[in-house]
Amino acid sequence: MDSKKREIPVTASNLNPIPLQNEVLILGGGVAGCAAAIALARKGRSVTLIEREPTPRHKVCGEFLSGEALEDLNALGIDPASLGAVPIDRVRLAAAKRAAEAPLPFSAASLTRKALDTALIADAISAGVRVERGRSVQALDSTTRNVWQATLDDGTTREAPTVFLATGKHDVRGHARPEDPQRWVAFKMYFRLTHAQAGELAHASELMLYPGGYGGIQPVEGGIANFCWVVQQRYLARVGYRWENLLAKMQQDCPHLAMRLAGAEQLLAKPIAITHIPYGYIRRATENGLYCIGDQAAVIPSFTGDGISIALHTARCAVAAYLAAEPAPVFQAKLGSALQAQMRLAVIAADGLNNSLARAVLPFCLRVWPGVMRITARLTRVAQQGVVAEHAVAT
Ligand SMILES: Cc1cc2nc3c(=O)[nH]c(=O)nc-3n(C[C@H](O)[C@H](O)[C@H](O)COP(=O)(O)OP(=O)(O)OC[C@H]3O[C@@H](n4cnc5c(N)ncnc54)[C@H](O)[C@@H]3O)c2cc1C
Repeated sequence: MDSKKREIPVTASNLNPIPLQNEVLILGGGVAGCAAAIALARKGRSVTLIEREPTPRHKVCGEFLSGEALEDLNALGIDPASLGAVPIDRVRLAAAKRAAEAPLPFSAASLTRKALDTALIADAISAGVRVERGRSVQALDSTTRNVWQATLDDGTTREAPTVFLATGKHDVRGHARPEDPQRWVAFKMYFRLTHAQAGELAHASELMLYPGGYGGIQPVEGGIANFCWVVQQRYLARVGYRWENLLAKMQQDCPHLAMRLAGAEQLLAKPIAITHIPYGYIRRATENGLYCIGDQAAVIPSFTGDGISIALHTARCAVAAYLAAEPAPVFQAKLGSALQAQMRLAVIAADGLNNSLARAVLPFCLRVWPGVMRITARLTRVAQQGVVAEHAVAT
């Protein structure tokens, strides 16, 4: 019976029409939530955004801004360069004792999430969005009156016919994404590298491979470097679940990382960490009036895809769909199909990085044929044209 249900194609005609009322509730004030809020407020909609943190703080993220992300941020009126973003023009891959370098085929930059999120929230407020900070959404339910009701941690509720779900890596009760079978754990630490190592890193984003995961190091504003890494839980178990042991083991397995971090000053007391990262997930179904964006729409593997760009892109597409009165389930299904090809490539690339044979031969191959790195970098970016074009017609 279930499989029969799934065969029914989602079209605008077999769904109840949604009332295009002005009120929109946005849950989550990160990249996707703020981008959607700013765009909707500029179109005259009445927008309330709920963000659980009282002020932006460090998030687990490599903080790499791809060309597409920079374009989308500029379109929102945010200029990462004026916030201190560091231009990134090359990528290096290091595994075992080898490293290879290639120029990036697009302009890129790096900026701390704290700086980016601060600018996004400020822009949302000046666009007229009602921002409620320090309030966490505990549950989201549809009512019999065709409106969505969000229950906050203080027991109060907020209602609107349309909700944009943008809580990123955190699920809201009743709208959870699937389990992460590989049980990834992600960490981020800021370092002040020695003068010599900072000079060597310069304008590069470096990808380090080691058994059980991979990580990226790159400069961010303020003369410091972000090292962000992922590891499967079973590898973390082997080092007694201690991040210091893990960092030591990674440096043992990847001497290039050891070289970068030699003599570096650790700038946070301990790394910030998250678990439950369902890489490869694409949400294809939703309910009327509920547009899922950012990591709530798709989770592209870190370092082989650019989640910030997807967050901005999905926000833009969802706003266009909403303004064109496209029902959320139709939008979500279309978005899911449009993201599929790049997601598949990014997953394959991530699996490759996590493979012991690839770790052994990849840097050597890339030295011989560095063009492959440029091609991979381009292919694993989400091609925005398809989805945007569809919605551009509708707006
Ligand atoms: C290890 C790692 C490295 C990465 N590196 C990069 C990179 O270098 N470049 C890149 O482009 N992408 C990277 N990404 C992906 C990127 O971080 C995400 O895809 C992006 O942040 C998604 O944006 P979002 O708006 O969906 O979520 P977020 O930016 O995380 O925003 C979600 C917001 O919702 C709020 N929130 C959560 N729950 C609630 C609640 N219950 N109530 C109210 N508010 C809530 C949070 O506080 C947060 O502010 C990386 C991801 C990981 C895991």
